[in-house]
Amino acid sequence: MKGKGMATDLLASGQPASGGSRPSAPRSFLDVRDLRIHFNTDDGVVKAVDGLSFQLDRGKTLGIVGESGSGKSVTSLGILGLHRHSKARVSGEVWLDGEDLIAASDERVRALRGQRIAMIFQDPLTAMHPYFTVGAQIIEAYRVHNNVSKKVARQRAIDMLGRVGIPQPARRVDDYPHQFSGGMRQRAMIAMALVNNPELLIADEPTTALDVTVQAQILDLIRDLQEEFHSAVIMITHDLGVVAELADDILVMYGGKAVEYGTAETIFRRPEHPYAWGLLGSMPRVDRDVRDRLIPVKGTPPSLINLPSGCAFHPRCPYVGYNGIPCRTEIPTLAEGSDHGVACHIPPAERQRIFSEDIAPAL
Ligand code: SF4
Repeated sequence: MKGKGMATDLLASGQPASGGSRPSAPRSFLDVRDLRIHFNTDDGVVKAVDGLSFQLDRGKTLGIVGESGSGKSVTSLGILGLHRHSKARVSGEVWLDGEDLIAASDERVRALRGQRIAMIFQDPLTAMHPYFTVGAQIIEAYRVHNNVSKKVARQRAIDMLGRVGIPQPARRVDDYPHQFSGGMRQRAMIAMALVNNPELLIADEPTTALDVTVQAQILDLIRDLQEEFHSAVIMITHDLGVVAELADDILVMYGGKAVEYGTAETIFRRPEHPYAWGLLGSMPRVDRDVRDRLIPVKGTPPSLINLPSGCAFHPRCPYVGYNGIPCRTEIPTLAEGSDHGVACHIPPAERQRIFSEDIAPAL
């Protein structure tokens, strides 16, 4: 197993091991337990994240994968505490190095954000202010958390821009974001995110807007910097290909819940959830014949206000009702297992048989 591993009692039910009483000690650097983020809207309650649990250690990468609206980005904003003053109702536990961020004060969470936890967004233009130079923004991010002079912070900004591969950083530090190319802006945002050596880095679709060459460079950069800083990384993406190389563990989300959770090796070599099979089937691969067509997951993601009954994936699942299983009426939970959780009513042995006989040969 490549990742350190996940607690089986969390996998079993998606609930805290304590069953709601006094929480047991966190088992890893980041220990998310039964996280729920619900929004009250005029049309009803949006259950964007509904009972999510996972763990992550320093130096490891967790890939959170799913389509738009699966709840993966809301999860990351929840960890950052950015839903605190919205209309969201947030519950559960988010333990970071032994401290529960859900229970912590606003002031404490603000202090941790940008210092111990940092985020890389999909679109640097929304994260960087167009009226300030790239350098000024990195300097500000550094000085908020460090009592240093502008001169020291400027040198730090130049160093960081150099580290992320910006040529002539001492000159480019005074450029505005619009003077950078898309790939350079993304690098600059990574420099800003890493300026305080965060222990937890959340990257939300960090390469979606970039062409494949720059995408590969950015992913290499994140991996190199992670090794250097020994950060824990959460990589959020709709694209399994992005996490194929980077992730130690993968959590597949659908309809605000985890539907499959395991090591990257397990998810790529012997996935068991029909949704994960669909995601893998829609992923381009270099060893695939170019004449082979990609097979997208049919249908569209569900509305989080009005999720389908039973298994939320059932309207799109080719195996719905397989051998009389109650897909339409009973919500499957992540099944108990040593290192692999799958929320599907098909018995594990049968899922494994379907995968090896029907799915794998077509991938
Ligand atoms: Fe498909 Fe049923 Fe499994 Fe859901 S529980 S993934 S509908 S087979």
